[in-house]
Amino acid sequence: MVVMKFGGTSVKDAEAMKKVIEIVINSKFKRKLVVVSAMSKITDSLIDVAKNISLNKEYSLHKLDEIMLQHLNEVDNLKLNDIVSERIVLEFDFLKNEVTNQKEFNSEVYDLFVSRGELLSSFILSKAFEMKGLRCYNLDSKEVIKTDSNFGEAKVNQQETNKLIQNKLNEIYKNYNLVVAGGFIASNLENEPTTLGRGGSDYSAAIYASALEANELEIWTDVDGIFTCDPRMIKSAKRILKLSYTEAGELAYFGAKVLHPKTILPAIEKNIPVIVKNTFNPSSSGTRIENEKQNIKMIKAIAFRKNISIINIQSNRMLGAYGFLSRVFEIFNKNETSVDLVTTSEVSISVTIDDIKNLHSIMKDLEEFSLVSVSHSNAVISVVGEGIKLTAGIAARYFGVLKGINILMVSFGASEVNLSIIVKESDLENSVNLLHSEFFSTNLDNEVFLEVN
Ligand code: ADP
Ligand code: ASP
Ligand code: MG
Repeated sequence: MVVMKFGGTSVKDAEAMKKVIEIVINSKFKRKLVVVSAMSKITDSLIDVAKNISLNKEYSLHKLDEIMLQHLNEVDNLKLNDIVSERIVLEFDFLKNEVTNQKEFNSEVYDLFVSRGELLSSFILSKAFEMKGLRCYNLDSKEVIKTDSNFGEAKVNQQETNKLIQNKLNEIYKNYNLVVAGGFIASNLENEPTTLGRGGSDYSAAIYASALEANELEIWTDVDGIFTCDPRMIKSAKRILKLSYTEAGELAYFGAKVLHPKTILPAIEKNIPVIVKNTFNPSSSGTRIENEKQNIKMIKAIAFRKNISIINIQSNRMLGAYGFLSRVFEIFNKNETSVDLVTTSEVSISVTIDDIKNLHSIMKDLEEFSLVSVSHSNAVISVVGEGIKLTAGIAARYFGVLKGINILMVSFGASEVNLSIIVKESDLENSVNLLHSEFFSTNLDNEVFLEVN
């Protein structure tokens, strides 16, 4: 069986959904589970609705009308019957009622609203399949993906979820070969809606694939696969034909938006190949991500992420004393903030974080035994590939080509497959361009990279 995930642009309107249907029909697999995102930009709009719930109810209600019309328009364009439109209107009646009755915005309210985008897109797509004469089951992911109550970025209860998915799908597959489910959404033990974090539909698809031991996990998006760099920034980026799980995981973690960072782990656990493909160019072979052994060891790609904060922690009192680092990390642990890059000297330590929600409390705790300074608006740039450690002279080339740029932090050696630096955001584009032309202009292995332009 196959799990096929289609992102927001792939279901952005009726035309796109028709392409999705064609791709699903042409799939060689008999059993298919289709996971969809909300229609493009709908999640942003729903966040807007939720955030204005106590500030400006009129605005939220007006925005809901706009979102409803967007959906009804596509239902019309797909020529679906009136029952579908009526169901959608009812759904929006419910949401408008919630806007009127909710007193304040909080993370529960956030998930109540944002989870609606995927419920709507999966419902519409399943009806469009039925119109094409395909028997199709519209599964509500809230029934089978179980999480904690960390609304907005909930943690999946893997065991419970696997059991529920297996039981439910075993039943459904007795009568249906095609299931359509919304990505991104789940529920807690009290059955309240939760979500898995922005871009989380890829992760949902991986959870389903792992629970069902799928033969393949396909991520269908709006580019031909994974490129040597974000093709929106680097026009000459090349498509990567093959990546290892580790490489893809690092690229996703360090900012390649094409895959949600949590997607790879469930695939690794069951050794499921992940294929990234383009809904708007399905004949392109895409990028295949699998086991390390199948992969040639070399530098594969550059990823970057903005909005990085650097925290410098200095403590003369800790000079020569043991326990400094552990004390620092305990504080990040207590404040539930994950640290990305770390550099240390005898009396100081610099760390980067991207989630500054608890920064105030972190600073307060650190200031009890050290001097702390923070700088915002930085970016992390990571060159990724299994060949990094094996290729002589990488660091020299890396720093040589960036000789005019102020590099604020370096992390090399911690991971076998990644060399990361921190620069100011204002230096990001220039640095990425310089690095890309240094590493990906000439002498590329045509077993690994495909020239696009
Ligand atoms: P979807 O809605 O299908 O999940 P996303 O917008 O989340 O799509 O991810 C696809 C986008 O990821 C592409 O349009 C591209 O701009 C961006 N991207 C960032 N880095 C890369 C990369 N290395 N290769 C391909 N795409 C990338
Ligand atoms: N719709 C959600 C988002 O925009 C999830 C996803 O698209 O993967 O973040
Ligand atoms: Mg995405």
